[in-house]
Amino acid sequence: MAGAQDYPPPNVRRLRIYSFDPALAAQYDLAGTSGVTIEVPWEDDLKPGPVGEYVEVIDVDPGSNAGYTPVDLNSPALLATDGLAPSESDPRFHQQMCYAVAMKTIEHFERALGRKALWSSHRHQSEDKRYHENYVPRLRIYPHALRQQNAFYSPTKKALLFGYFPTRAKDGRNIPGTTVFTCLSHDIIAHETTHALLDGVHPRFNEPVNEDVLAFHEAFADIVALFQHFSYPGVLRDQIARTRGNLARQSVLGQLAQQFALASGRGDALRSYLGKEENGEWKPVKPNPALLDQTSEPHDRGAILVAAVFGAFTKVYQARTRDLFRIATEGTGVLREGDIHPDLVNRLAEEAQRCSERALQMCIRAIDYCPPVGITFGAYLRAIVTADYDMYPVDRENWRLAFIESFREWGISPRGTRSMAEDSLLWPTEKDVVEARVKVEVAEERVKEESAEKWVKEAPGAFYGYMDSATKRSRVALTKMFQQAAPAESDEHYSRKASRAAPPRPSSKPAGVLTPTPLSMKRFDIWLDADRQAATFHSWLLDEDWAWLARALGLVVEVGNTKTISAGRDPNRAAIEIHSVRTAMKRGALGFPEPHMVVVVTQRRAGFFDKGKQQEMDETPGAFNELTLDFKYRAGCTLLIDPEKMEIRRVIRTPGTVADDDELDRMRRYLLDGLTPPDAFQGVTGRLADTAEPFAMLHSHAGE
Ligand SMILES: [Zn+2]
Repeated sequence: MAGAQDYPPPNVRRLRIYSFDPALAAQYDLAGTSGVTIEVPWEDDLKPGPVGEYVEVIDVDPGSNAGYTPVDLNSPALLATDGLAPSESDPRFHQQMCYAVAMKTIEHFERALGRKALWSSHRHQSEDKRYHENYVPRLRIYPHALRQQNAFYSPTKKALLFGYFPTRAKDGRNIPGTTVFTCLSHDIIAHETTHALLDGVHPRFNEPVNEDVLAFHEAFADIVALFQHFSYPGVLRDQIARTRGNLARQSVLGQLAQQFALASGRGDALRSYLGKEENGEWKPVKPNPALLDQTSEPHDRGAILVAAVFGAFTKVYQARTRDLFRIATEGTGVLREGDIHPDLVNRLAEEAQRCSERALQMCIRAIDYCPPVGITFGAYLRAIVTADYDMYPVDRENWRLAFIESFREWGISPRGTRSMAEDSLLWPTEKDVVEARVKVEVAEERVKEESAEKWVKEAPGAFYGYMDSATKRSRVALTKMFQQAAPAESDEHYSRKASRAAPPRPSSKPAGVLTPTPLSMKRFDIWLDADRQAATFHSWLLDEDWAWLARALGLVVEVGNTKTISAGRDPNRAAIEIHSVRTAMKRGALGFPEPHMVVVVTQRRAGFFDKGKQQEMDETPGAFNELTLDFKYRAGCTLLIDPEKMEIRRVIRTPGTVADDDELDRMRRYLLDGLTPPDAFQGVTGRLADTAEPFAMLHSHAGE
């Protein structure tokens, strides 16, 4: 006889949540689908709170000076019943729902990226002006933090703060005076958790250096919440059955997206970009390519990106369900009166769920393929296309085509690309950038009056000979890096994290080589290890062979005549910051996912609003200090490195190098004229990191 302790531990924990929010749950006709039970990863050590490995729900309410009893999800009663039943009046259910949805969002990220999720580090400056980073084990979640119509992620507190407020609206759904809890909306929880997860990967995406950055943060959080929502089995089934033939006209997905916009308090923008109601019937909005140029407010602009991504999803969904309609209608496409067959409902719901999951994975995986600073919608499209290409070289369901077409219909295109064909959207490879660099060198130095193209035409032998030796040079640099052991001392000065001993490498490779972190490694060890790898990588950059390659990668090696570029210990050498080293997934030769490394490299330069002053500071050595600059201009690249083949698979550069005056000026003009709302980021001039709550400002008009 086996005892209870002989059962294997469960893989998942089943928990009940509201499928949208309590207001929708209270609608009589939606009663059957108001709650869903979702599966989240099992945590053995889950403490009352819940407090787990990733998140910590803290239920204190400063408004009423109260603390609520934390829910214990490991108590036998709750294990037996999939947690508490949805309830507005039991704070312990609020805690359970926050925990469940946040964990589901984290799971989607980990599955898409193939690594454990980390929160962004706490950064602080010590007396010697060096930045230090502290590990953040858990995101804090406060379900009842504010008496406001607001909910936001706080990058400084590493916390999600949810508000509650008495509703004033008498809109048929809400009764004036009743309390609305933002922590009971699936979409708001998923949205805020996504902000925190994105911040963990790209802390620089809080710096609004162009009109797309803030809009991207908002749009990305909405995209994840939207597709996560559709990916629950059963959420769509009831709607599909209810609206039968309308499905072909997108109405189910559209209506749900509308409810989503309503429930998540994203305001009118999202709703009106996805579709609107005409004579009681929902009609999808036709994409308008001119809209993007006329829109600058972050939510409105972000809604265009959400609409473009949603458009790609519906294209594939419709293509994939067309056959089902033909079968169901014997080819006519017109359904008969009455309810549609339950089998058809199930198959359609299955397709919608599968498509949502695929779209969600594509959108999340793309964040490893973004430039380190100044994300634009166009660059995000390139990231989606390239990341998906590296994972699924053959695109059987035409997902990439759907994304490209939908983005084009909404007027989103990458700056400087000549075509929207898939192969021109792929980020360049090592070979591409080396070739481009050779052409630049040729134009600059070898034959000043001749173009590289002319040289290729007239003396192909000489050109390709030059090219060959250049390629070999970059090969030598990379091989050196991977084959040599790490430099005896990795750059100690560079290391910013707690000076604890790095964990022993679990791999057989010599220490120091870029090594993917195994999934079994503890999150704290991954965090420490990334710092060690960054320090090692940094010390390689000082090698002469690397210097040549660095230029090809869009980095500036010497300060030269631009004295505002931050220098290293040697005042003539431009400082290079290895912003992060992490593991990502690609598709290997036999079709299995294999890890490769993402190395994020940035450089920084002092910017001045006055052009004359900029020129003066550029020319005078040592004239500026960190306190006098008006803003920080950053540039750099994200490298996807294959440690097995010892090659750089993708090079994702910012539009200009740190020495690029045109790009610096573009940022200056944006900061001076384009930033809306002007008060949300008062600290933008150089000290943005100190600005308290960017997302609080962005979200405060939610639901207005
Ligand atoms: Zn947001």
